[in-house]
Parts: sequence; structure tokens; C-alpha cells
Amino acid sequence: MTNETITCPTHGDSEFAHVCKHLIEHPAQPWYCGYPEEDAPWRDAWCAACNAAFEREGEWNEKNEGEAEIGLLCCHCYEEGIAQSVTSMDDTTAQAWVQYLDTQCKVLRDKQQAMTGRLKLNDYSRWDYYQENAQLVFSGGAQPDLVADVEFVGTLSTASDTWMWSWANFSLLQPVRSRILAVRDFGEEHDYPLLTVPKWKAQQQDGWHMTAIALDVLGAMGAYRVPTDNGFIFMVVLSAQLRN
Ligand SMILES: [Zn+2]
Ligand SMILES: [Zn+2]
Repeated sequence: MTNETITCPTHGDSEFAHVCKHLIEHPAQPWYCGYPEEDAPWRDAWCAACNAAFEREGEWNEKNEGEAEIGLLCCHCYEEGIAQSVTSMDDTTAQAWVQYLDTQCKVLRDKQQAMTGRLKLNDYSRWDYYQENAQLVFSGGAQPDLVADVEFVGTLSTASDTWMWSWANFSLLQPVRSRILAVRDFGEEHDYPLLTVPKWKAQQQDGWHMTAIALDVLGAMGAYRVPTDNGFIFMVVLSAQLRN
């Protein structure tokens, strides 16, 4: 497969998407675009004003295409741009978000403590995860191995200081990133951009925050974080049983 490229002054030869000039100039506003797909990671995007013109016609045609000035944006600039849109919440939504997040972080702490005790997680000396069947297996303890059914929430890169939702991460196998779509749907329903933007600037605690929300939306019993070469994978535990 050959992909067309443009030459970005910052990033050199890069793949690109069609993006309205408003977003290119002021990226910190809602982006109207489809979600990343494996063969189309950077979807064409436009702003709220352009979207109104789009929705009036239900498509881009000769009646509305004059209203949106579309430019080409390199895929790296695209990722940096859409990442800035996570801050665009109105006051009411922002208030609701902070409150919700705060509550869920407390719930996570409580559930985590309960799960660790009940499953005696600290008695095991090792863990291994298997993406192909979405399992996290604890072993090396006095009791039988513990098999947990997990969903990956996302990855926190300490190299780039970014959070990436597992639903946008096509290097992960499908079994660990299918149920997480419910969290994105929830974000869409409530206009919480941190839940619907694929990747954004983040610190470690953001990983726990997103995991706390996934815990709630997916009705999970607890969470687990494992280290990777350049950060962490955050997962939620949906159920667990001793291997017999
Ligand atoms: Zn626009
Ligand atoms: Zn660029």
C-alpha cells in the first residue's frame, strides 16, 4: 500500500488529513470527525461552524463546500492539534466532569482495596497477560493461579507524556479493546472530550483517572497497571477466578 504524503515544515514527509482552516489555526475547540480506524487513523475533520454547514446539506456539495476552507494537515500536526481539543468544555460540563471524576477516583480506591484483599493479589509473585483471550494471570503464590478477565483501558507513555485510549491503539489485539468502546460512547453522550479524543498530553495520574471512569462504565471490580518499555498499560478487571 502506498500512502500519499505532504511535506510538513516541522515533521517532513508525512501522511495527512483534510482539515478545515479554523481547526488548523485554532485547534483548541471541538473537532468534528470520525474515530480512528486501522486503515484510516487520521479522519478528515472540521469545526462546529463548518459542521453546521455540513449538517444542513447532509454532505459536502456545491451548496456548502464554499463555506469550509479545507486545508491539508500533516498527521503529526493533526495529532498535536486534536489533542488540544480536550480542554474545550463549557463551564457546566467542566463542573460535572470534575465532580464525576472525583467520585469515581474514590470508588476506584475503595474497590481496589477490596479486590486486592479478597483475591489476595499480594500473595502472588508474578503476573502475565494474554491479549488473545484478554486474561491477566497471577501465579507463584501458595494458592492456585488466579485468572482475571481484563479489558485494556489505555496506555500512558512516559516517553511522550501522552495517554492513548486502547480503542485507538491498533497495535493491541481486539479482545482487550472491544468493551472499552462503551467508555467512548459514554464520553460522547456527556460531551467529555477526554473520553473521545484518541491521544492527549497526560501524566501518570491521568491514567488512573481514565481507568476510574472505565471501572464505572464497565462495572469492573478493580484495576491493574503493568509497566511497558516506555510507560504503563492500564486495565480493568471484570471478573476473576482461581484456576482449578
Ligand atoms: Zn471550520
Ligand atoms: Zn506536521
